[in-house]
Amino acid sequence: MNKDVSSFNSDIWEKIKQKLKKEVGETAFNNWLKQLKFNSSDKEILTVSVPTKFLRDWIATHYADKIKRVCKEKNPDFLNLKIVVKQNSGRIIPGTERIVKNQEENKSLDIRSQQSFSYPGDFGAPLDPRFTFDNFVVGKPNELAFAAAKRVAEAEKVTFNPLFLYGGVGLGKTHLMNAIAWEIKKNNSERKVIYLSAEKFMYQFVRALRYKDIATFKDQFRSIDVLMIDDVQFIGGKENTQEEFFHTFNALVEQNRQIIISADKSPSDLEGLEERLKSRLGGGLIADIHPTTYELRLGILLEKAQKRGVEIPLKVLEFLSHKITSNVREMEGALNRLVAHATLVGRPVTIETAQELLQDLLRAHDKKVTIEEIQKKVAEHYNIRLTDMYSPRRSRSVARPRQVAMYLAKSITSRSLPEIGRKFGGRDHTTVMHAVRKIEELKTTDSIFNEDVELLKRMLEN
Ligand code: ADP
Ligand code: MG
Repeated sequence: MNKDVSSFNSDIWEKIKQKLKKEVGETAFNNWLKQLKFNSSDKEILTVSVPTKFLRDWIATHYADKIKRVCKEKNPDFLNLKIVVKQNSGRIIPGTERIVKNQEENKSLDIRSQQSFSYPGDFGAPLDPRFTFDNFVVGKPNELAFAAAKRVAEAEKVTFNPLFLYGGVGLGKTHLMNAIAWEIKKNNSERKVIYLSAEKFMYQFVRALRYKDIATFKDQFRSIDVLMIDDVQFIGGKENTQEEFFHTFNALVEQNRQIIISADKSPSDLEGLEERLKSRLGGGLIADIHPTTYELRLGILLEKAQKRGVEIPLKVLEFLSHKITSNVREMEGALNRLVAHATLVGRPVTIETAQELLQDLLRAHDKKVTIEEIQKKVAEHYNIRLTDMYSPRRSRSVARPRQVAMYLAKSITSRSLPEIGRKFGGRDHTTVMHAVRKIEELKTTDSIFNEDVELLKRMLEN
């Protein structure tokens, strides 16, 4: 090669582009690299231009390594690639220069650039490596959703569109969506799978509006093979986003691309969503995830405990599955605490330590015991009438059980003294306080009484 060609020029740049086209393929080339134009060059830095910031960031994050490699083949002295944003008029937009370092450095740069000036470069969210089908425990409450997710992930053709997964918080929707994405990537790495939250979709859309770059926004989404939007309830009441989502949705369905949606409710129950969008969303397969059962919770805990490689006695796992019924995320959090403890202390956790370590979580769940239940149980236990709990009668035979009930209301529920007083026939909070003190005192002096009250407490809590 000619010695003078130690720097680049537009001819060499065209050759580089041709080479890149062979490497990345027509489609990707036309979508992304075609618009790269030679701008200037000195010995070590090649400056090229693109028409939008979005394109600049996209190229920098996805194609920088390839471009730099090809440049280096043409010119061994080449060190750095700089991308600037140039308007149609030929004017470089100030402050848009971006030196493209290697891919690792790019990542951190990208985060900064998203926050500061650029319109985000990557419109999908990263996938969580823990959320795979292998790590998903199947039980009655989620078997339909699981089967549907598997089917979509393995299908060669689009069968139901969209797949709509719905269920309460922490029941595995995001896990299943990630699992679908991993599976598709594994089976066919060519397919372009994009996973993002509805919130991020909206954010991108709003940014695009602000930067008057709707066309690029649309192209991004419409070049996808599989689009997954998580927590779609988020766009309820946000009309512009819904409008755009609706169009994107239709465009993708028309091209026979797979769409997967999750939400906390069924399409028809989603609030603030236009009817036509609801009916679109419900037009494929709807699979709901039911609240977990005891068996499923235990299954999940067994699997997760085993993955952690720490031994937690079955009794303790059973205890957790009984106690933490709200959602899997919370249960996992509880397990993590126990695992951390077991690892630190070096011996297995017992139910007692679990109870102690998870006090706050367990208490939150104990709230479910109502004052009415306490009154009923206590009245039964002491064989008095329920109405005596609220009556003004002061005889010892009813006053003491009433005090016990107040004490239990205070220690089991999260109700305040005045609230408790109100439930006991409108008594004053000082009366409740007095009752609590009295019972505490009796408990320390009378061991039979103490056992009696503790027994009542355990019955109420279980
Ligand atoms: P959602 O998106 O429905 O709110 P996630 O998918 O984020 O819930 O799940 C919350 C946590 O619970 C995650 O860590 C997930 O791995 C776990 N999880 C939920 N269901 C299961 C399951 N059936 N098997 C294994 N892990 C599960
Ligand atoms: Mg989720």
